[in-house]
Amino acid sequence: MHQAASKPERHLPALAVSRGIGIGTVIFLHGHKRQFFRRSIDSNLIDTEIEKFRSAVEECKDQLKELSNRHNDQNQLVSEIFGVHLLIVQESSFIKKIETVIRDRQVNSEWALKVVSDQYLERQISVADQHLREKSIDIEDVSDRLLSVLIGLPASVRLTDPGLIIIARELRPSAIMELKKSSPAAIITERGGWTSHTSILAREFGLPMVSGVRKFGQIVSEGDRLIVDGFSGQVIVNPKIETIELFQRLADETVIRDELPAITNNSTATTDGTSIFIRANVDIPETYERAKLFGAEGIGLFRSESLISSPGSIPSEEEQMSAYRQLAAIAGSAGVNIRTFDVGIDQMSERGFSSERNPSLGLRSIRLSLSDTAYFCTQIRAILRTSGDQNLSIVLPMISGLSEVLLSKSIIKEECDRLSEEGIQFSEVKVGAMIEVPSAVLTINEIAQNVDFLCLGTNDLVQYLLAVDRDNDLVANWYQTLHPAVIRSISSVLEAGSERGIPVTLCGEMAGSVFYVPLLIGLGAREFSMNVNSIQQIRHLVSGISLAETHDLVKMARNCHTAEDTEYLLRTYYLKNWKDLFPPGLLSTKHS
Ligand code: PEP
Ligand code: MG
Repeated sequence: MHQAASKPERHLPALAVSRGIGIGTVIFLHGHKRQFFRRSIDSNLIDTEIEKFRSAVEECKDQLKELSNRHNDQNQLVSEIFGVHLLIVQESSFIKKIETVIRDRQVNSEWALKVVSDQYLERQISVADQHLREKSIDIEDVSDRLLSVLIGLPASVRLTDPGLIIIARELRPSAIMELKKSSPAAIITERGGWTSHTSILAREFGLPMVSGVRKFGQIVSEGDRLIVDGFSGQVIVNPKIETIELFQRLADETVIRDELPAITNNSTATTDGTSIFIRANVDIPETYERAKLFGAEGIGLFRSESLISSPGSIPSEEEQMSAYRQLAAIAGSAGVNIRTFDVGIDQMSERGFSSERNPSLGLRSIRLSLSDTAYFCTQIRAILRTSGDQNLSIVLPMISGLSEVLLSKSIIKEECDRLSEEGIQFSEVKVGAMIEVPSAVLTINEIAQNVDFLCLGTNDLVQYLLAVDRDNDLVANWYQTLHPAVIRSISSVLEAGSERGIPVTLCGEMAGSVFYVPLLIGLGAREFSMNVNSIQQIRHLVSGISLAETHDLVKMARNCHTAEDTEYLLRTYYLKNWKDLFPPGLLSTKHS
């Protein structure tokens, strides 16, 4: 371990995406799509590690033979490419070198593979011959395939010690679901914004997290001591003892301040008696146990893709039924909205790659479900079969217009007919559309006439409406939740819902923020689904404001022409009228 005292203390700015303070030592999570740690292997376990690596090589050979044969008749060129890959794993020195690194440096296979493939790539990229340079793609491809197989084997992303600070370029949601089991002290990523799925999960799990820290590998080494401040957004490298003590005190005080008493009474209403329904966004069942204590009335959003533990591991009908049954049992009559898989094509294949230039605009979500209906049908069957006497609903994500709703509903109907023919019991379930794409807002009346309810996905709505990547911290200032276009879109969706007499649930991080909720209520929102850790604050706020006041606020906000003006209006209004209803410090930070 590096001695903290021998290096100067440094404070680096970062984007705070999950509140909390983490103090610990650094561990790097390597890789991009497939992530792994560098681990030391005891000398008596080296042979076992080599065996694990060899079995991964064998698995790769089988895959490549199969792929090469499959393409033999139709596409000779593709078949030849897989043939070249097969040669690399069968005969080249590449595999031997990896084994040598495992043995000599006593490290895990994933790390040894990275070391050797980096060496090959560096050498190949620098040669003058273009043909040889292009060959680097084959090494990259083979390495990715090997890594995929290795990571499919047990013990790759699992941490051994609690209390570490994990640094990664980017973290997949499935990785944080796994990592949280080891109770890390904090997480630092290069990329990621407030509404990135990983940040949302970090908040759900109460893990301090910051992002936007570039090239951290050049600043710190594994084992260095760090403080992550997920409140103000900073990382302190090599902190002095006094700094550690100061932040330890801050962390303890925060725990005490956040310990609010559990609220048993479930209903929430404004001071003038308007009921506001608060539901929870849930990714794992334990979250709802906590949400229930805080007074949540059902699961407003279950992101079912949280069941996909690694790319390509799509749960079977039975596995899904067991997960849905568990959720339905804990939610009881308050019900669960199950959103069908909202993933990109990279999550659906074992190899975890997408060649799409713009995955957020690509073959994903409902588009993927409707173009490869086999897994969509499996999911629908699993939901229908679980429905029985349970209160389950289906939410269709990323709807861009009526056709997708109609097509999805016809598939759902076909599955109902099939189950009836098979004599399998099920109940009809309600079907809702997630409104998060501008074209859906512009055709909201047609959509509203054809669904049982609407969910407003504000995270994506802001992204797609303003053309700002929600995962890119570099454009975080353009991600303006209070942009007039966002407010008008939300208003027209709420209006359409009310005209058709169907509920509209506000989802996304906006719905769980005390800064935005008064405005949303004034616009007509009555149902919210939010992160478990927002529930108490929101209920406290709502119980202290009146509907009439929120209407006044909206009237004034309609005269604001920029996000900055609206933010100024809200801040001023809150400070003047409701200062005590907001957590300390919140009204002095930027929000729009
Ligand atoms: C949203 O887009 O607001 C939403 C609730 O879904 P997700 O964050 O999973 O995209
Ligand atoms: Mg979304």
